[in-house]
Amino acid sequence: MALKHKRILLKISGEVLMGEQAFGIDLGTVGRVADEVIAAKAAGAELALVIGGGNIFRGMAGAAKGMDRVSADHMGIMATVMNALAMQGVLSSKGVDARVLSAIAMPTVCETYSAAKGIHHMQKGRVVICAGGTGLPFFTTDTGAALRAAELKCNALLKGTSVDGVYSADPKKDSSAKHFAHITFDDVLARNLKIMDAAAIALARDNGVPVVVFSIREAGNVARVLNGEGRFTTISKD
Ligand code: UDP
Repeated sequence: MALKHKRILLKISGEVLMGEQAFGIDLGTVGRVADEVIAAKAAGAELALVIGGGNIFRGMAGAAKGMDRVSADHMGIMATVMNALAMQGVLSSKGVDARVLSAIAMPTVCETYSAAKGIHHMQKGRVVICAGGTGLPFFTTDTGAALRAAELKCNALLKGTSVDGVYSADPKKDSSAKHFAHITFDDVLARNLKIMDAAAIALARDNGVPVVVFSIREAGNVARVLNGEGRFTTISKD
């Protein structure tokens, strides 16, 4: 079957990698997410990943405790590199060639990001892991994901979360919350739905990158969503 989305950017929040832990990286969970990536690749997709850093450090938390926001965000950015290296290590132990491309230069650790390199690696069948978000403080990895999806000419940005899509209210708190199969970017912004920050939504909207929100907790879901199957929400221009 032809894939609904051929080249995708998969965004995973750092918290997903904690598994049942309260902090840090649970390698078993990284392995489970890696299996999702492998299944999507086997289905024929070209994949770029953006992984957050919230399981290790968030700049806002540091700033709230009196740290300079720029330094705190740099720590968050480095946390995303640690997660990217964990994912690369696990993918390679499973026989998958993956390359970390970092937005901040760390030449002895990994390659420095460029769109041309990212596209080249994907065309060679490698999984690209875009680390460091945008490389700039005051941004998030969601915005980094929207940016990389546009730069790498991805057909969709898949945002793996703990719920199976976008709801009218928080489904964990409000049992009457309605699940949307489809919603527009403008509606997401107007209703102030907290799926991604407004900068990320605007960037995806302005560059015509549809965002698909789905549950990463269900095994096999990435490949399912790629085939347009299962339960998810598509956010698009209209
Ligand atoms: N961050 C940043 N610029 C970016 C991306 C990330 O400064 O372009 C920092 C920021 O401090 C953020 C942290 O890295 O809190 C971790 O990223 P994020 O909160 O997006 O991770 P997630 O919530 O997806 O785990």
